[in-house]
This record gives sequence, structure tokens and C-alpha cells, in this order.
Amino acid sequence: MPTAAPSGSLENFAEAHAGANDTPFADKFSILLAKNKDWAAQTYKQHPDLLPQLAVGQHPEILWIGCSDSRCPETTILGLLPGDVFTHRNIANVIHPADLSSGAVIEYAVRHLQVKHIVICGHTKCGGVAAALGNKGLGILDPWLLPLRQLREQHHTELETLPGDEATVKLAELNVREGLKTLKQKSVVLEAIQERGLQVHGMIYDVGSGVLRELDSSEPEDAIKARYASFKTEA
Ligand SMILES: [Zn+2]
Repeated sequence: MPTAAPSGSLENFAEAHAGANDTPFADKFSILLAKNKDWAAQTYKQHPDLLPQLAVGQHPEILWIGCSDSRCPETTILGLLPGDVFTHRNIANVIHPADLSSGAVIEYAVRHLQVKHIVICGHTKCGGVAAALGNKGLGILDPWLLPLRQLREQHHTELETLPGDEATVKLAELNVREGLKTLKQKSVVLEAIQERGLQVHGMIYDVGSGVLRELDSSEPEDAIKARYASFKTEA
């Protein structure tokens, strides 16, 4: 027996606004526009200065690097507003060292927006992580998920002993830690940590409870020293 759509969901809104002659596609499109008008009006009512101020410029303090998954909308789960979070999202929040897209976002956020925090966030039930733990060929997703398969190889024995869900969370954590490592191999990030106290955080978001958990990413002094010696470059 189908369960009722939750109040505020698209299905619920569709029922309330559906016209007799609407096609399914027209329904979806008109719902989005109507929802947007409602949101803009509500936002203006609650924060009259916010949107006009954002039209002048943005000063976000956080760069969020997360998964594209629809269940992990960073600004919503942080309880923040437009203008608060500069964002890069991709499948399974992977940071490839030579990826132009994430590289450009990181460079702009750190050097020009001067963000104070960078968060790399993985999540439970991540489809990309689950795919990397499976052996099905996925076309273009295979090279994209390669860093996850490399982590799987490195931690094969441990991952093999864990039940499905736990293995997925473990690999999501390893992926976040690997992302932090790659992030801190970028000279622009090292410079901002050293010169103005930029902080870098790793997190896992539980999609079933809505709660974020911070990973301990503390490191010994000699590892930090070796990183600066190896990756810090001059302008
Ligand atoms: Zn995901």
C-alpha cells in the first residue's frame, strides 16, 4: 500500500496544484517555478536584506566539497542560507589531483574568496562508493571512481571483513581522508593554512539521521613538515 507523500514534498505540492489537463512534464516544470516563487517570497519575508545584499557580492566562509547525491544538499543540512557556502560537488566527492573543475573551485575559494574553512564530506549509502566496492563495469564512471578502487585495493583485507553497510561507510571515510591529503598537497591551500589559519575538515553525513560526524584528521608534526617541504611552491 503506498504511503502518503510527506507534507512539503514535490508529490504533495503536485497534488495540491495539479490541473486536470496538465501533462506529467508540464506538471513538474510548473511546480518548480511555483515552488521557486514561493521560496523567494518567503526568503524576502524572513530575511528582507539577504537577496539584495547577495546581488552585490558573496563572502562565504566555507568551501564545501561533497557528493552530488540529492540527499546531501550542503546549505540545507548545515541550516545555512544562500551566500554562506561555496560548493563543489561530484560523484562520491572525489578530488583527482589534476581535475580542472575542483582545482578551479579550490583556487578561487581559497585565493579570492578567502574562505576560512574547507569541508570534504562523504556520506552513508553513497552510490559511488558502493559501485567501487562492486565489480560491475560502469563506463565513464570507472576512471572517475578509480581512486576509490585503489583505496579498496589498499584496504582489501579490512573491507572484506566488514558487513556491506559498514564497508561502504569505511570506504567513504578512507575516501574523505584521501581527499584531505590531496587537498593539502595544493600549494594554495598550504599557503592559506600557514599564513591566515585556513582550517580543513573531513566529515561523514548520515543520510538516515541528517547528522554530520567530523573525522579526526590530526597528524604528527613530521608529516606536516614533510608535506610543506614537498608541495609548497613559490609564486
Ligand atoms: Zn554519494
